Amino acid sequence: PVCNDLYINDVLKQTTAFLENEIRFRNIELIWALNPDLPTIQSDAAQIQQVILNLFNNAIDAIGRNGHITVKTGYEAETDMVSISLRDDGPGMDKEVQRRIFDPFFTTKNVGEGTGLGLSISYSIINKLGGSIRFESEAGKGTEFIILLPVKHHD
Ligand code: ADP
Ligand code: MG
Repeated sequence: PVCNDLYINDVLKQTTAFLENEIRFRNIELIWALNPDLPTIQSDAAQIQQVILNLFNNAIDAIGRNGHITVKTGYEAETDMVSISLRDDGPGMDKEVQRRIFDPFFTTKNVGEGTGLGLSISYSIINKLGGSIRFESEAGKGTEFIILLPVKHHD
C-alpha cells in the first residue's frame, strides 16, 4: 500500500462528493456523525476510498429510494484504531445472505447489476491495511458496516 497521513473525515467527504447527485436523486438523506478529534492515520487513501465507495454503493442499492445513510467516525484509544461506520435503513439481510456476503462473486443482484466482488475485495483491502471489517444487519431494519483501521501502519 501507498501510505500517507490521512484524516479519515476528509477521505469520507471526498468519496461522497462522487455520489452526491445519485444520493439526492434517490431522495436519500446523508447524516454525518464525524468525530472532529480523530487522529490522522498512516494508510492508503485510494484503497480506503475504494472500500468506502463499495459500501456506499451497496447502501444506495439496498435503499433504492427514500432512506437514510449515517456515516460515523470514532477513535478507540485502547487499540489505537480509527473506526468508520456506515449505516443504512434499507431492507437488511437475512441470515443466509449474511453468511455469504464476503464470498467472491456472491450477489443477490440481477446479472449486470452486481459482480459480487465489492465486499470480498473490500475485505482483503482492509486486512492488508491491518484493519478489520464487520457488519450487523437485521432483515427489515437495515445494515451497518464497521471498519477499524490502525493509526500506525506496520508492514
Ligand atoms: P454486489 O454489490 O456486486 O452484489 P457485494 O460484494 O458488494 O456485491 O455485496 C454482496 C451482497 O451483499 C449484495 O448483493 C447484497 O445482497 C448484500 N449486501 C451488501 N451490502 C448490503 C446492504 N447495505 N444492505 C443489504 N444487503 C447488502
Ligand atoms: Mg457492491
